Amino acid sequence: MKQDLLSLSLPELEAEITAIGEQKFRARQLYEWLHRKNAASLSECTNLSAALRQKLDERFIIPRLTVRRKLESALDRTVKYLYELPDGERVETVLMEYHHGNSLCISTQVGCKMGCAFCASTKAGFVRNLSPSELLLQLYETERDSGRSVGSIVLMGIGEPLDNFDNVMKFLELLSSEEGRGMSLRHVSLSTCGLVEGIDRLAEKKLGLTLSVSLHAPTDEKRSAIMPVNRRYGINELIGACKRYFDKTGRRISFEFALIEGVNDDRETARELIRLLKPLSPCHVNLIPVNEIRERDFRRSANGKAFQTMLTDGGLNATVRRTLGADISAACGQLRRDHGEEKNG
Ligand code: SAH
Repeated sequence: MKQDLLSLSLPELEAEITAIGEQKFRARQLYEWLHRKNAASLSECTNLSAALRQKLDERFIIPRLTVRRKLESALDRTVKYLYELPDGERVETVLMEYHHGNSLCISTQVGCKMGCAFCASTKAGFVRNLSPSELLLQLYETERDSGRSVGSIVLMGIGEPLDNFDNVMKFLELLSSEEGRGMSLRHVSLSTCGLVEGIDRLAEKKLGLTLSVSLHAPTDEKRSAIMPVNRRYGINELIGACKRYFDKTGRRISFEFALIEGVNDDRETARELIRLLKPLSPCHVNLIPVNEIRERDFRRSANGKAFQTMLTDGGLNATVRRTLGADISAACGQLRRDHGEEKNG
């Protein structure tokens, strides 16, 4: 089987290139083509000789993703892609425009094991992890297709990034490497449902990224009812890991809180949340109006502003996330599944 060029770091590529009897500097040239100039095939790498390209072509491949569907919002500049991976599986990627530039929401797994009650990505179960190149390609293919350049990345699409730890770390290494794309990890957010061991492992790496923790409820009782992961790592354990993360990295943590009517949008919940997070300040609470999905009758809370005020009055830093791409169900997981049903039905 041909080896995937895009998943190789520069030192790994150098080792491969010298192993086939080529000079080491060729590796850097190739790496620049792949990660700076978005070359989609070896034939585009024009400063490499035809003979070398031929040699590479026999051993290596630059994988591609295919656009299976593309939905463009009529309300804002949000574009949602359904990409097909080389083995025919599909994931979603969402391009969003903020005042500071374009941001890309990428998927980390095909499906998800975590089982959150409100989430569409997990309903059909877990299929497999994405490779480092499949993570990167969501960026490269989207830039190629849209002609827009992406300034920041959120790992908030389908899947649990800390459940695909090694590939996500390799992706971040490739993304931020100076000889390649060179994106500062300050422009990356990683969102987790709260895998405590993963948070500790991530803290050890001391990356500059922003850690977002999907909290959604402030007590074990309420959280376990909507997030099965809470039965594995309870709130105290999770908050303990967040403290250690902050102490190690000095980066303040962002907590996601999807407001669901009648479930977690009341005054008592706000009080509990303040009590829980005050000791972790400075941190940030990102209130998300829940996206209503077919399978569950969770309703979007109309209480967003009031809930935010309760939190800020209690001394927490809180904002309500703006909804983008509302007309194209830009929230993750829905398109992959709709498409599957269309195919089957
Ligand atoms: N597995 C990771 C990242 C993917 S989900 C995590 O759990 O954080 C990205 C964010 O979207 C998480 O905060 C998740 O809880 C939230 N989310 C999932 N379904 C949602 C829905 N229907 N409405 C609003 N937010 C949702």
